[in-house]
Amino acid sequence: MTKHKMLIDGKLVESSSGKVYNVINPATEEVIGSAPQATTADGQAAINAAFVAFNEWKNVDPWERSRLLRKVSLLIAERADEIAKYITEEIGKPFAESKGEVNATSEVFDWYADEARRIYGTIIPGRTENSRHQVTFEPVGVVAAFTAWNFPVLLMARKIAPAVAAGCTIVCRPSEESPGATLAIAQCCMEAGLPAGVVNVVTGMPQLITDCVMADERVRKISFTGSIPVGKHLLRQSAETVKRITMELGGHAPVIVHADADVQMAAQSCMQAKFRNAGQVCASPTRFYVHKSILDEFLQTARDTVNSMLLGNGLDPKVEMGPLINPRRLKAVSDLVDKSVEEGAELICGGKRPEAIEVGYFYEPTIIAHAKDDASLMLEEPFGPVAVVTAFSDFDEVIERANALEFGLCAYTFTQSLELANKTSSALEAGVIGVNTMIASSAETPFGGTKQSGWGREGGFLGIKEYLNAKYVHLSLV
Ligand code: NAD
Repeated sequence: MTKHKMLIDGKLVESSSGKVYNVINPATEEVIGSAPQATTADGQAAINAAFVAFNEWKNVDPWERSRLLRKVSLLIAERADEIAKYITEEIGKPFAESKGEVNATSEVFDWYADEARRIYGTIIPGRTENSRHQVTFEPVGVVAAFTAWNFPVLLMARKIAPAVAAGCTIVCRPSEESPGATLAIAQCCMEAGLPAGVVNVVTGMPQLITDCVMADERVRKISFTGSIPVGKHLLRQSAETVKRITMELGGHAPVIVHADADVQMAAQSCMQAKFRNAGQVCASPTRFYVHKSILDEFLQTARDTVNSMLLGNGLDPKVEMGPLINPRRLKAVSDLVDKSVEEGAELICGGKRPEAIEVGYFYEPTIIAHAKDDASLMLEEPFGPVAVVTAFSDFDEVIERANALEFGLCAYTFTQSLELANKTSSALEAGVIGVNTMIASSAETPFGGTKQSGWGREGGFLGIKEYLNAKYVHLSLV
């Protein structure tokens, strides 16, 4: 049992009410720890700390910000095993995946350690000999960051690292399911020497914290990763104080497998990507449009790949897929699959809880075929271990079907033709596109959605811009 504490103003603290809530391991259903149930007063204390710290931090020179961020990155890398264990125990993903997430988190801090020194401005020639237009960038101020639980350290790192690199301070609220993993990153920030109040973490149920954060004029920016409905709620709230916004919201990624694709490679990589983190990934491929000439071969390879997957507690190194996060998600996924079968789709494999596992929120990796375009599963983000495979015959038809939804986060295609790769990636409406690969994000590349999947970009050369305001000065040199 780990008793977590929050980080406010450089100190590890309990809730001002003394209340805590239990943290559950979804693979065993056991209580593995507790975290403070933050009150509105705690939220306000975190904002106060961040506001006071901002006045100093914004003036710290970029080389020093860079040095401290690099130290955070190194500490995270040193503690990779310990942090990965928190992730696996709190959210259930296999240990190797958790370790990959921690390494990616360390890379994000490393990347922004460099970006801190590259906040370049521009000089635009004036209209007269003696005038100059000068554009510089300044930190936006206090930032609030709220994240989902499925990548508990990476999602928060993509907000903390660019914010701090830009000279902002931040109040973070991790998802209630995964406080320990996120607090382990906060601990690294503290030990690396980031001044008190630059990074604050409050834990607990959302409304008590987020309502006061959203209403506070001193919070100039919100960065949220989570579902579209909660994103819309926060967008409405942010209108009151005109906060800057980054929204990383849900996805329902289409995959187009063209007739000339390497079918075996495509089916195997699609299934491995699909069932990573039990399908609970925003970038997860979900709607598989496979050319009718290769559909049978694709389905056969997909089924063989899935049937050999071992489910269980992610701390067992042989396990390839863990549980869903909680009973609510288990019911939601199970209902969606049952409904799509009732609606006429064919269940290829899975579709139930695994009989051999008695505890934990497990659901078998599931493949559904021949769902109609208006089937519930084709319209709603399943956010679980479900792949829906359907045939197509014509390029324009498949692009129209793939683009038909209001989601626009990730999309993928498999083809051996450069022409088709270009044509397909140009036509797909998404912020991130994988061609013959399912790797959708890295520290050096911009990640984010179009349409209702969100606004703004995290990572790469664009990530830091979200935390900077441009300032234009017209200099008349007389
Ligand atoms: P969620 O929206 O239910 O929760 C996300 C966070 O918001 C959690 O911390 C939650 O406690 C908090 N929250 C819930 N209600 C709130 C409220 N009324 N006010 C303020 N905060 C509130 O999402 P989830 O189930 O945790 O995560 C799954 C969703 O997140 C999926 O839709 C997935 O696609 C999306 N996601 C997107 C990305 C991305 O980068 N685009 C990454 C990961 C997950």
